[in-house]
Amino acid sequence: MEQGAQGALLLYSSSLSDPSQNFGNASSIHWAGRKAKSAIEDSREQIALALGIAEPEDICFTASATESINTALKGFFFHQPKANVTFISSAVEHDATLDTLAFLKDLGAKVILLPVNSRGELNLGDLQSALEEARGSSIMVSLMAANNETGVIFPWEEAAALAKKAGALFHLDAAQAPGKLPGFSLANPLDLVSLSAHKIGGPKGVGGLVIRRGVKLANLLHGGAHERSRRAGTMNVAGIAAFAAAAGTLAGRDLAKMESLRDGLEKAVLEAIPGTHIQGMGAKRLVNTSNFLFDDVRGEGLLMSMDMEGFAVSSGSACNSGSILPSHVLLAMGLDKLAAQSALRVSIGPGNTEAELQSFTQALARVVERIRAQPARARLRT
Ligand code: PLP
Repeated sequence: MEQGAQGALLLYSSSLSDPSQNFGNASSIHWAGRKAKSAIEDSREQIALALGIAEPEDICFTASATESINTALKGFFFHQPKANVTFISSAVEHDATLDTLAFLKDLGAKVILLPVNSRGELNLGDLQSALEEARGSSIMVSLMAANNETGVIFPWEEAAALAKKAGALFHLDAAQAPGKLPGFSLANPLDLVSLSAHKIGGPKGVGGLVIRRGVKLANLLHGGAHERSRRAGTMNVAGIAAFAAAAGTLAGRDLAKMESLRDGLEKAVLEAIPGTHIQGMGAKRLVNTSNFLFDDVRGEGLLMSMDMEGFAVSSGSACNSGSILPSHVLLAMGLDKLAAQSALRVSIGPGNTEAELQSFTQALARVVERIRAQPARARLRT
């Protein structure tokens, strides 16, 4: 874990364990409340500085990127005077987007999901056609900056420009971008941007929605004038301070080093394990993400065996009630159901070392060999 993030967590725990100093609610006018309020406003400025956001007040703190995405999409829909709303998004978005869009579709919204190619890339021509198809309605384009399963980066700046030209509102799910996407900056303001603290080494349960001044959304939460009347509810002061402390460490991240470690890992795995495939290979990707598939290795055995070796890796797909569902991302890239259940997703942290990645590769080679040596029925069980 990064030093800065550790500092943030220390701050987080000390603020929880010293109630005599930290009982203040940021909405109260007494000294303790003001102290909490200034911690929040300092944090807002630090996060804005780290991400190039010109107007710190545009940041509305939330409990997660999931909440931010729900607020952006539902807030847009419910703010429209009439139900002639079209959402344009992609087939590989996070469930926070796809499930929200399914909910809004049931309420009458039109939803266009753009496809991706076999490398997971988005075609801007498809976006342009969808914008033309949606002409005449109130349009929101909602896209991710980069995919959480494959790391494939979308041309979000160009997409935002196309949306603007068509008079559509643009929402960026940037949960995966800061600290992993070289050159990522919000200096050119977008209409709406969703952020997550824990994706940059901050605590779980804090996020942000950057709402450009003038963009009108219906509120998701009611019951108070917090966050300039954009989100009601007592604020998570310690979590927000920790979010800011983590954001403050982003400038010190060596993305080139992370990328070279990731490239070295992929090369080593390709050499050590015949029949390895890397999803999104050849596309522009985040510096830290690899999505592997191995011929004749299916199901959850791979994940469980790597866990027993001490490595915290994920499948490319969602785990539900103990069984692995096929990844909608890999299905959209044209993989079959079995393959889409079998990916191994590896994310390198800024603190990982070459030696750790070497022992990871050795363990992976052992595990894959062991699984392949099993009789076909056991090996292909999902
Ligand atoms: N969007 C993307 C691309 C993500 O990767 C994630 C989390 O994995 C989310 C949204 C949801 O973020 P949170 O965990 O803060 O709700």
